[in-house]
Amino acid sequence: MLRFASLGSGSKGNGTLIESGNTRILLDCGFSLGETELRLHRLGCPPQSLTAILVTHEHGDHASGVGRLSRRYNLPVWLTVGTYHAMRDTRFAQTHYINVHQELAINDLHVAPFPVPHDAREPCQFVFSDGARRLGILTDTGSYTPLIVQMLQRLDALMLECNYDAQMLADGPYPPSLKSRVAGRYGHFDNRQSSELLRQLDLSGLQHLIGMHLSENNNLPAYAHKALCAGADCEQNWIQLADQQDGIGWCELC
Ligand SMILES: [Zn+2]
Ligand SMILES: [Zn+2]
Repeated sequence: MLRFASLGSGSKGNGTLIESGNTRILLDCGFSLGETELRLHRLGCPPQSLTAILVTHEHGDHASGVGRLSRRYNLPVWLTVGTYHAMRDTRFAQTHYINVHQELAINDLHVAPFPVPHDAREPCQFVFSDGARRLGILTDTGSYTPLIVQMLQRLDALMLECNYDAQMLADGPYPPSLKSRVAGRYGHFDNRQSSELLRQLDLSGLQHLIGMHLSENNNLPAYAHKALCAGADCEQNWIQLADQQDGIGWCELC
């Protein structure tokens, strides 16, 4: 059985747990060591029980806690060469490199990486599978490519970025340079892009749809909900949003 949970999601820190059998992967760690331990325990997952840490890209909200957690609990870290060289703290217990066009296996979990347009050195996102069910994760992407659309077809679960509402960003407090960075091709997904991408996917087997990485300044949960629900053509109460403080509890794929 494949299951997943979020330690928290947003510009102040990200971490996602993916588990199959005895294999438990933490995807990204943008929290301090103490905060990570606390959030892992909240999900009934002592840090000692982790198998590995995977990193999508070097931005602090995804990578700031990786080095410390790896050293403290002797955990191997998987990441692209570009991400490795762009990270400040790379004293990992063990390092494994990801080729973004090549699937890999970490014990019971199949991991299929794919590159995304984002303003980092060599960012990627992932589809995880236990051989039967597939979970796709897409955050920190400014646009979607044909490969992304292909990778996310016929998933059983999808965690999808809904970073901002275009109008709120335009009217909001960010300086012009930051506004254009966020909204650019290498920035983040807005609600409309998430909705548009969903319409291009075969969602007939989807059991869970989770909105991720919502901006606290430039979005409202109600807007993200509405966009996801329109894109997936489903009931609003079927969709969950992972927030910064609480993330989401375990979701199982049957
Ligand atoms: Zn991020
Ligand atoms: Zn980022």
